[in-house]
Amino acid sequence: MARIKFMFAMAVVLLLVLTTCTSKNPIEESKLIIHVIDVGQGESILLQAGESVVLIDAGERNKGQTVVDYLTKQNVKQLDLFISTHPHSDHIGGATEVLKNFEVKQIIDSGKVHTSQTYINYLTYIDEKNIPFDIAANQSIKLNPDVVLNIIGPTKEYADINDNSVIVKVTVGKQAVLLTGDMEEAAERDLMAVNNVASTVLKVGHHGSKTSTSKDFLAAVKPKLALISVGQDNSYGHPSSETLDILQSMGVAVYRTDLHGSIKVLMGSQDYEVVTEKQAGK
Ligand SMILES: [Zn+2]
Repeated sequence: MARIKFMFAMAVVLLLVLTTCTSKNPIEESKLIIHVIDVGQGESILLQAGESVVLIDAGERNKGQTVVDYLTKQNVKQLDLFISTHPHSDHIGGATEVLKNFEVKQIIDSGKVHTSQTYINYLTYIDEKNIPFDIAANQSIKLNPDVVLNIIGPTKEYADINDNSVIVKVTVGKQAVLLTGDMEEAAERDLMAVNNVASTVLKVGHHGSKTSTSKDFLAAVKPKLALISVGQDNSYGHPSSETLDILQSMGVAVYRTDLHGSIKVLMGSQDYEVVTEKQAGK
C-alpha cells in the first residue's frame, strides 16, 4: 500500500514538473527583445535583435549612468542606432553619457530644435565626434532577416515638440511593436490616417498622459500588451486614470516601470513573453 501511495505521489510530482516547464516556455524563439529601462520619470528603450542593438532615448541627465549600466549588464558593446524621439530632457538628458560610453554608428533625430542647454550639449558632442546624424524620414532598417525597424512618424512637421516625436514600428513576423515617444492625440490621428498602426505591443505615448492614447487610436492599434515608462509619484500624475481605464476596457495587459521596474518583452514571430524586474506591489 505504501508503495502504491509513493508511486502515486511520484506521478503527481512528475505531472506538476511537466506542467510548470511548458508554462514557462511560451515562446518558440525570441527574435527581438524590447527592454523598457526603468529611468524614473522619463524614457529609454533598448531593442536587441540578434547582434543588432538600437537605443531609443536615454532618460533625464541624472539617469545617463543608469542607462549605461543597464546596457553594460546586457553585454552591449556598441549601438548600431540611437534614436532620439524628441528633444525634451526626460528623453535626451542621458544621451551624451551614453554616447561617451558606447560607439554609436548612427543617430536618427526628430530634427526639432530645442534651446535647452541639454539639447545643445547633445548636439555639440555629436558634432565633435562626427557621429552620422539623420533626420527621421520614413527610414526602413532591417535589423536581421526577421526583424525590420520602420520610422513611420512624425507624418508632418508639428510645432508641438511632443507631437513631433519620432514614431518607430518594429515588425517581427506576424507581430509588431509600436514605440510612440510623447506623441499626443493630434499626431495619433494623422499617423493612423496614413499608416497601418496595428501592433501586438504598444509603448503608451507620453508616459500614460490623458493627452495621448485616444480610444480611436487604441482601437486601430489593437494591442495585447501596453508598456508605460513612468516615475513613481511623479508630479504630472502620469499615468492618468483615463488612459488606464481605456486600456482596461479594451482588455490590454499593462506593465509600468513605476510598478514593475525595468520590463523585458521577448518576442517571437507569433508570441511573446514578459519578464519584469520586480512584481507589482512588491
Ligand atoms: Zn517624456
